[in-house]
Amino acid sequence: MSKNVRVRFAPSPTGPLHIGGVRTALFNYLFAKKHGGDFVLRIEDTDQNRYVEGAEDYIVEALNWCGIPFDEGPGKNEKCGPYRQSKRKHLYKQYADQLVANGNAYYAFDTSEALDSERKNHEAEGKTFIYNWHNREKGRLINSLVLTAEETQAKIDAGENYVIRFKSPQDETLHLKDIIRGDISIDTNTLDDKILFKSDGMPTYHLANIVDDHLMEITHVIRGEEWLPSLALHQLLYNAFGWNTPEFAHLPLILKPTGKGKLSKRDGDKLGFPVFPLAWTDPKTNEMARGYKEDGYFPEAVVNFLAFLGWNPGTEQELFSLENLISEFDLVRVNKAGARFDPDKTKWFNHQYMQQQLDLELAENFKTQRPELADIDINYIALVVGLIKERATFVSEFWDLSHFFFSAPTAYDEKASKKAIKEDTVEIMQKVIEIVTATREFTVQNLQSKLKGWITDNEIGFGKVMMPLRLALVGALQGPDVFEIMFMIGKNETVKRIEALIKTV
Ligand code: GLU
Repeated sequence: MSKNVRVRFAPSPTGPLHIGGVRTALFNYLFAKKHGGDFVLRIEDTDQNRYVEGAEDYIVEALNWCGIPFDEGPGKNEKCGPYRQSKRKHLYKQYADQLVANGNAYYAFDTSEALDSERKNHEAEGKTFIYNWHNREKGRLINSLVLTAEETQAKIDAGENYVIRFKSPQDETLHLKDIIRGDISIDTNTLDDKILFKSDGMPTYHLANIVDDHLMEITHVIRGEEWLPSLALHQLLYNAFGWNTPEFAHLPLILKPTGKGKLSKRDGDKLGFPVFPLAWTDPKTNEMARGYKEDGYFPEAVVNFLAFLGWNPGTEQELFSLENLISEFDLVRVNKAGARFDPDKTKWFNHQYMQQQLDLELAENFKTQRPELADIDINYIALVVGLIKERATFVSEFWDLSHFFFSAPTAYDEKASKKAIKEDTVEIMQKVIEIVTATREFTVQNLQSKLKGWITDNEIGFGKVMMPLRLALVGALQGPDVFEIMFMIGKNETVKRIEALIKTV
């Protein structure tokens, strides 16, 4: 690739970023970094009616949390700025005028009532109304193609509402290219004359998007499949301006876990998993939505599972750090077919990343979540974490898996007690206390060999010792290795807990 690669993520701040949007941002980021290029964030807020307070901050925070910050964007390295379309308003009119002047666009004065009635009339005849070559010059529609230049100017001067429409060509076959989808041919007769500019001074998405991609020197447009139907118009706009066209890649849809239908913002609530990177409270309704961050996912795990929504490395390898992804990522290996979202797999990734994290880091995280740990030495917590993390997917599960390392059981599980406590339990436990007390060097190995030796020498059933012992230490028949637990809590505490059990029998 000779030219400096420049890609952009261009969300509209209409609410929190769906994970599909984060996936688009990630693929842009990976592509840019792989080619040593720039990743630009542009906020497409031309539709002020849909603007939602806080959405832009949310987008920036989400990208930062995922570890995929933009190189240029609002407030950062603004060499092609401003990066908010509402701040670029003054730029677009001249381009719309240019298209009108060279015959690629025209003024249309049709009122919304007139267009509605056209639509209804068509529907009544079982047809769909589209504004294009087949009716734009027939006289029913009022536009600068049928009016004289003077008439058009008089309407504009009189302050009549107008829009500027693109004049889609008639009887042409348009050849489009998409890196993921290959060659696509479009019959231009099927296209409608999309609105580019409104008399309120605002461009529509199509015009602003193309003008900005051009001015920001974007080389590759990587975006969701839902924009594929706009590709023909975008290509025609590039042609009309005489500008170089960037390369396009339309990413596959993200499908519901069933594989049927697009994953929607509502699916998270319905199916019990987050569809947003960060939690979000709607400023108008106060409705809350869960986020991966708050649910205890590691950003590395989120990035890894998002990368696999539509891309694969072509090997069996599933765990990829961001650096690995940058070096392996290739748009050619992105699928056309929709990518099924699998919430269990996202948990699997989190479990894997948990195992890779340093025990000390996890311990610090754990400590912030439990007031019970406030006064406990962080190194001790880290040792505990090392013993239990294999069984956990989230740090929030640590306490249930490890509370007995920090405090004695306050109750014994009823079922477990029935199973563990027999007639000779007290006698056996008293003997265990003796052995434990006599173990001078209090290590896992010593405890193990002493206790196991005594069990085999006296031909006592293994369970008869280990079950009540575990019950005494943990309060249930769960947890890691009993000898590890004894070693961790120490001799005194071990003896105390066994005595406590004896008392209740
Ligand atoms: N503003 C559009 C969106 O919200 C951008 C589409 C594009 O990338 O061209 O997704």
